Amino acid sequence: MFETMHATLEIPVTNTKRSRIKEVDFRKLEFGVHLSDHMFTADYANGEWQDAKIIPYGDLSFSPAILALHYGQSVFEGMKAFRMKDGRISVFRMEKHWERMNKSLERMCMPAIPEELFMSAIHKLVDLDRQWVPKEDDSSLYIRPLVFATEERLGVKVSDQYKFIVLTCPVGPYYPKPLRVKVEMEFVRAAEGGTGYAKCAGNYGGSFYAAARAKKEGFDQVLWTDSKEHKYFDEAGTMNLFFLINGVLVTPPLSTTILDGVTRASIIDIARDMNVPVEERKVTVAEVKEALKKGTLAEAFGSGTAAVVAPIKIINIGGKDYTIPDWVENCFMLKAKKQLSDIRHGRLPDVHGWNYII
Ligand SMILES: *Cc1c(COP(=O)(O)O)cnc(C)c1O
Repeated sequence: MFETMHATLEIPVTNTKRSRIKEVDFRKLEFGVHLSDHMFTADYANGEWQDAKIIPYGDLSFSPAILALHYGQSVFEGMKAFRMKDGRISVFRMEKHWERMNKSLERMCMPAIPEELFMSAIHKLVDLDRQWVPKEDDSSLYIRPLVFATEERLGVKVSDQYKFIVLTCPVGPYYPKPLRVKVEMEFVRAAEGGTGYAKCAGNYGGSFYAAARAKKEGFDQVLWTDSKEHKYFDEAGTMNLFFLINGVLVTPPLSTTILDGVTRASIIDIARDMNVPVEERKVTVAEVKEALKKGTLAEAFGSGTAAVVAPIKIINIGGKDYTIPDWVENCFMLKAKKQLSDIRHGRLPDVHGWNYII
């Protein structure tokens, strides 16, 4: 594995005095609740990243004047490590997550993370807490890199100081439940030229209101549409969006309003491997409504690291519910999900070179 060569940085480690792993029931994991024993931290000051270290997970103290809290310079990533059938650990497409993090950081005027720092941080942290990578099938260790502005100052400016943290937590399998979603025609998540393609904290804060309103109306999630006309689909909540129409896998093309999902890219590659035709193109609400009426829309789902695929059952367009037939065992989304899982756990050959082995 050539990638491991990037994890060459020496990182001092302070071991925890008391592991908390015995307190965790790995068969009942609620997402994001049980943080692993250690965390990585580094600071950016005087134009460079410094003081990289691994320390026990715990509180950090900050001034209430740090710029991240006031002006929102905060960027994160989310990826997963898997226990392979031979006991090794694979981190899924670490390099792609690193590239995306730097794109997000650039958009938010924040300093890039050098590849060696990113790779070494995650490699050494996951290696140290490898006991925390679940052995249960379809469970994994969620990895959360985070960068935020730490300069103390109330004036509006780009921060000169930042903190880079990596946290991990074991997560259980995602059991697909049929989602009822609403096509959002009032609120927007992202506008062209905005920050929609960056994984920045504010995108989430800004989307909660519409999501909460949809919840109140009995929906699980919203399908975001474009900010100008509410005519084209963008994403599904915090996931990328796919439709299977007439046997063709269709997904909106990448733009400044769409997050370049690693799961999205991988599903597209898997579809091509399976000879399923793929179209990355603008998808109109009208077209999907037609397909739902005619019964040519066989599948709709969100994709993301947390759920992998999240099947959609009901789409509400302009106040009317349209129902998608129940999914069957050999439907595309479940096959794609299984294929991804098999590659990650080493049950299928990693033909695309997606696994970073620890
Ligand atoms: C993280 C995220 C996704 C999914 O990206 P993955 O790399 O597949 O996890 C999709 N949309 C938004 C808005 C996201 O923040």
